[in-house]
Amino acid sequence: MIHLQGATLLTPEVEYRDGVLCMEGDRIIYAGPAAGAPPPSPGDEIHDLPGRAIIPGFVNAHTHLAMQLLRGIADDVALQPWLTEHIWPVEDRMGEEDVLAGTRLALLEAVASGVTAVNDMYMSMDRVAEAIVESGIRGVITQGLIGNADPERRRLKVGTDLYERWQGAHGGRIQVALGPHAPYTCSHEYLVEVAERAKALDARIHIHLAETPEETQELAAQGRTPAHVLLDSHLSDQPVIAAHYVAPAESDYALLSGMRIGVAHCPISNLKLGCGFAPVARLRAHGIPVGLGSDGAASANVLDPFLSMKAAAWIAKGASHDAAQLPAPTVLRMATYEGALALGLADVGQLRQGFQADVVVVDLRSAQLQPVFDVASALVYTATSRDVERVYASGRLLYQGGRHLAVDAAEIIAQARRGAERIAQRTLSS
Ligand SMILES: [Zn+2]
Repeated sequence: MIHLQGATLLTPEVEYRDGVLCMEGDRIIYAGPAAGAPPPSPGDEIHDLPGRAIIPGFVNAHTHLAMQLLRGIADDVALQPWLTEHIWPVEDRMGEEDVLAGTRLALLEAVASGVTAVNDMYMSMDRVAEAIVESGIRGVITQGLIGNADPERRRLKVGTDLYERWQGAHGGRIQVALGPHAPYTCSHEYLVEVAERAKALDARIHIHLAETPEETQELAAQGRTPAHVLLDSHLSDQPVIAAHYVAPAESDYALLSGMRIGVAHCPISNLKLGCGFAPVARLRAHGIPVGLGSDGAASANVLDPFLSMKAAAWIAKGASHDAAQLPAPTVLRMATYEGALALGLADVGQLRQGFQADVVVVDLRSAQLQPVFDVASALVYTATSRDVERVYASGRLLYQGGRHLAVDAAEIIAQARRGAERIAQRTLSS
């Protein structure tokens, strides 16, 4: 058994100043005050961690890991020209080798910043799944389905084959969803077909929805709303992860309340692409779990959950002129447990007995963090990913003191540099 003791434990409902967390295998055996902790047995691993916080691993509720190779390739451009003029032409020429290199690079950043679960939509998803397994964390993977480019439904078949191959693989660490990219890239008929396949497989749906106010306005011109798209197509017969939801129609809230849906709020990507931002407090008030996502590094440039938490808190307060919106414990809960709920990961995102041992130790002793009156405040408003000291996923230590223990970080960075050079050469020669 591994004992982490002497730290502040955020469960996140309760905070224990002298907390103990015990892990065995891939599970949390105990999380609570020192007084009730099981005594160590001979051979147990014991770590005294004064001045640290122990929190659940972060859940990145929406990302495109392989886009790490495209970081900085097209900044300061609005969503539609960014997609059609910059990103899609480059992605059309990305091979499996590039996807693998980009995903591995992204997972280095994810693990080093305390992320232990990702929800990824991209292509060449077998390579993505392999990279996630190799990294030691867990992931929900989705073949991105651009229906308008899939007249013969080949991609849809790739997406459903992926489910057959990977759903529940590696002790449940890999889950598979079906991923119609967005209402603006998939016809109603295509969405209906995806819904039928999802129902047959009992798969979750992962979709970009209401990504901009313009998207919602275009649907309104057809007499529809983003939530209607889910209902009409029967996508909402299955659990849904809706990425962004920047612009719900007024009538959407009541409809969403009756669905099995979670929203992935991606504040940094939304702000940088000039899309706006999701009305998080209102969505949560309607009982909808809202996790935090980074989106891909080509739009957000960073995958850092500490920055996502800050952005989520700041914009909620600034946009509402209400400093009480999204207090620090709520933001921390969104970045962990609500993200897991949105993804349907029932035993992830909390420090609780029987839950997956996805555990992060954050060092709160640096000068930049002093003094620490309130640990949740320090984690959300002050800490950065550089304060992450240890990362465990499924009880396995993946990262400690700046070193990756499960993968060869130097080799992954070298592969990524070569991948970026390939992409640059193809872009120049086109
Ligand atoms: Zn996205």
